Amino acid sequence: MEAKKRDECCPAEKPEGAGIAIEFKFRLECSLKTSADASKATEIVGAYIEEANKTILTKGAPEGQGAKVTAWSVEGDRIKLIIESGRHVRVHDALLRMRKPLAGKLGQEFKIGIRGVEVGSYTIEVPSEKELPPMKIPYVAEMSYAQGILKLVLDVDESAMSNRVPDRILSLMEDKIEQHSYGGKTEHWNVLWQSGKKEHKFTEDPTKAMMEAGWLKRGASRGQWIHGPQSTKMFRTFERIVLEELLGPLGYREMIFPKLVPWEVWQKSGHAKGVYPEIYYVCPPKTRDPEFWEEVIDHYKVTLEVPTSLIKEKIGDPIGGMCYAQCPPFWTYLQGETIPTDEFPVKVFDRSGTSHRYESGGIHGMERVDEFHRIEIVWVGTKEQVIKAANELHDRYMHIFNEILDLEWRKAWVTPWFMAQEGLTGVAKQTEAGTTDYEAFLPYRGEDAEWLEFQNVSVNGNKYPSGFNVKCQSGEELWSGCSGVGLERWASAFFAQKGLDPANWPEEFRKRAGEIPEGIRFL
Ligand code: ATP
Ligand code: ZN
Ligand code: MG
Repeated sequence: MEAKKRDECCPAEKPEGAGIAIEFKFRLECSLKTSADASKATEIVGAYIEEANKTILTKGAPEGQGAKVTAWSVEGDRIKLIIESGRHVRVHDALLRMRKPLAGKLGQEFKIGIRGVEVGSYTIEVPSEKELPPMKIPYVAEMSYAQGILKLVLDVDESAMSNRVPDRILSLMEDKIEQHSYGGKTEHWNVLWQSGKKEHKFTEDPTKAMMEAGWLKRGASRGQWIHGPQSTKMFRTFERIVLEELLGPLGYREMIFPKLVPWEVWQKSGHAKGVYPEIYYVCPPKTRDPEFWEEVIDHYKVTLEVPTSLIKEKIGDPIGGMCYAQCPPFWTYLQGETIPTDEFPVKVFDRSGTSHRYESGGIHGMERVDEFHRIEIVWVGTKEQVIKAANELHDRYMHIFNEILDLEWRKAWVTPWFMAQEGLTGVAKQTEAGTTDYEAFLPYRGEDAEWLEFQNVSVNGNKYPSGFNVKCQSGEELWSGCSGVGLERWASAFFAQKGLDPANWPEEFRKRAGEIPEGIRFL
């Protein structure tokens, strides 16, 4: 049974220029502004362009696929150029490559300088099987589609070109075309290990059962629960199992990670590329001056309604959001540091607060909530150390789920979370960086239904050390990994299979949980 759709394409491994050659066409019409009339330099300019077409404009590109100046003229204090290219040496690169040597020649022989670039037009043609829906993309003035070609007219100036804006527009378009032709995001899924089939005495929805038993209640906010003493004790038992059976023996040290995450952290972690639909945004007040807020306060006092649109005017732009993936804000601790070689592997964990996600549609009981509790385990070291640490975690988890919780569960190799959260699909090589999801069978959902992901183990490659500029004294490349133990998910998996009656719990869990505390009674 396969819950998630598979995806054959793999952007992470797509080698440049592989397979059928795809024709990208770049065309730039521009003028170099000169400090004086350059007519007298026409011959030199022509000779230089002819040479450049054969040398610097083809450097690094496969035979015959470099950029080319296809037309030029000198008109007063303007050197007019039309440059065309494919994807290898792109037209803006070609211009940058030519500018300095040409300025050198004009300066030397005619004392003429180049003062800047005027862009007449910049177009990119990308093959696409489908037309894309209308969209707003910075620097894209026009988008049209005809005969399998998507044509973009860019509105870029010199600084946008030297900041490589056209390159990022092209990557973005390629992603969008891929998404549209493969019918949106599909996740890779490939089972690695599966426990034996188990008999389940319990077949109810565990959240419902817990509510009926008075273990928990819905919170006031969307997808939020208040855990009574009984449920809380179970969560703490899961945590203790993780501490005693895994974090302690493997030498992980506890830390406290921040729970409000500013944009700069998500820019470095990559989350800024995609998580917007799921973020709980945070906006600070424009000022803490009570007078500034008096109108809001008075409005409430008189109407007993919170004037949210008035509040909107009095708060600043979002500075970031609530904790989403838990590990990114930890990296600020290591950011910019060089760490002694013998400090590795660094092994830490955080369980200091909640994670928040705006989940879509029907939020299912406790399984998919907007506010959840997770132990986040993070490790950093050389590639070998990081892969070894991941394997040690896998072994310990195996012990916990088989010997203590006695679950029916499986492990699957999936699209790495850091790619999924950037809106990418595909999968990495199975032995290297990538994500393993842990999934549990939920009897109440039935045999053919989707299993529940209750945690994952990810080897994140050099993504974080490189994004946050962390170095090892030895100069060796650093890798990192993380594993998120979702307590709501553990509880959903365990109680879905075992129910709430301790008589049906495995002895190893029962003895660790101890007595279930009395709940608060209601009339
Ligand atoms: P799903 O596919 O179920 O939405 P995810 O791929 O978004 O999960 P990750 O981003 O990998 O989950 O998060 C790591 C862990 O955090 C999950 O394995 C799970 O234990 C927990 N988690 C994520 N989202 C939620 C949620 N909405 N409610 C409860 N736990 C969650
Ligand atoms: Zn993480
Ligand atoms: Mg999710």
